[in-house]
Amino acid sequence: MNKELKNKFENALFKVLSVPSVQGKATADAPFGEEVKKALTLTLSIAEELGFKTKNYDNYVGEVIWGTGKPFGVLCHLDVVPAGNLAAWNTDPFTPTVKDGKLFCRGALDDKSAAISTLFAMYALKEDGYEPKRQIRLILGCNEESGWGCIKHYNEVAVMPEEGISPDADFPVIYAEKGILHVKYAFKKLKQFTACGGTAANVVCDYACVTAADLDKELAEKHGLKVCLDGGNCGNSGCVGGEIKAESFGKAAHGSTPEKGLNALKALTAFLEDGGYIEKGVYDGMFGARAGVENFEDETGKLTFSPDVLSTDDTHVYYVTDIRYPSTVSRETIEKSLAKIGDFEVLSYQAPLFNDKNGKLVTTLCKVWEKYSGKKEEPIAIGGGTYARALKCGVAFGPAIGKEADSIHQPNEFVTLSTLDIMFDVYKDALYELCIK
Ligand SMILES: [Zn+2]
Repeated sequence: MNKELKNKFENALFKVLSVPSVQGKATADAPFGEEVKKALTLTLSIAEELGFKTKNYDNYVGEVIWGTGKPFGVLCHLDVVPAGNLAAWNTDPFTPTVKDGKLFCRGALDDKSAAISTLFAMYALKEDGYEPKRQIRLILGCNEESGWGCIKHYNEVAVMPEEGISPDADFPVIYAEKGILHVKYAFKKLKQFTACGGTAANVVCDYACVTAADLDKELAEKHGLKVCLDGGNCGNSGCVGGEIKAESFGKAAHGSTPEKGLNALKALTAFLEDGGYIEKGVYDGMFGARAGVENFEDETGKLTFSPDVLSTDDTHVYYVTDIRYPSTVSRETIEKSLAKIGDFEVLSYQAPLFNDKNGKLVTTLCKVWEKYSGKKEEPIAIGGGTYARALKCGVAFGPAIGKEADSIHQPNEFVTLSTLDIMFDVYKDALYELCIK
């Protein structure tokens, strides 16, 4: 990027990053809240200033359009997850701040840099005098982090390109994504108690608690739980205060990589089973041998199983569980196996993604990546779910490089400045190779 372009780019990126586009209260013309709408209208107006045609589909999703012909989609998103624990941030989460060769801000890596880099890659190609042989559509989703309502709306009011990329994960090329099932297991309660834990189906539970009038304090401590004699309400929905309470502490991680966290429900479940609060076998099903379901494995990886949210009612205890299964195994086979653990209800499902490793899309992107990274890397498979699944033939491609990806959804999210440079070059060259040449 030359200096003038770089100034323009940084100006645009900083403006978009400064909008705290966390999902908010829906209003008549802002389905995901005012701030998300602001991020979208701002980005579309920047694109128009750069000379592109744009469309805004009712503030659910927008797009930047260049050229005509068979469309090629680049799917990014402008919504972000909340800042989270403010005390853990070293800078203001919505004031883009450059420090030690890094740009800190919520959305710096997920996913605003990729969206603005792609926009400027299109602009630079246009300024170089190129005209695409097929239509390039930069699709800007507004609800990626909480339900994909944007993609659903796009499919209702427009026609999704069949082929494309989603720059919303890591480099190199991601040719496969595991199938995702969120299921809710139900097990009978044998004694009265209430318990709750976890924040979302795809986040490893880092805090859980149980309250009961006759809670066995010694046994709770034996299982590593912390007993609070004053009872009290932890503030989680479903938590009943006033009785004897025991708490379990763990470490959060993404539901697709449970091995990186420590599930607070593990010790709590062991306590419940040992104390005769629930049936024997629940611990083994949730945290033990799991009826062998984790034996499913193929070239896209092993099945992962993470019980992340616990709740109770008068008769049952429920575990909302995040399951990511290998791309080449059928959903039916997986569900049959999951039923060996206990009764469950499916809450949501995302079909796996599996692309031809030797197809034009994957091989072209691998070559582009090699050119700018200097590294010859095989395409990879992941457990996460990206917008690439919304395409018939789609792959996730960048933008994170290595360790910086760990800052996504965490306090002090950052993108390395060198990654920002590479992103622009890689997306520019990828669009050139796939849509212009
Ligand atoms: Zn994202």
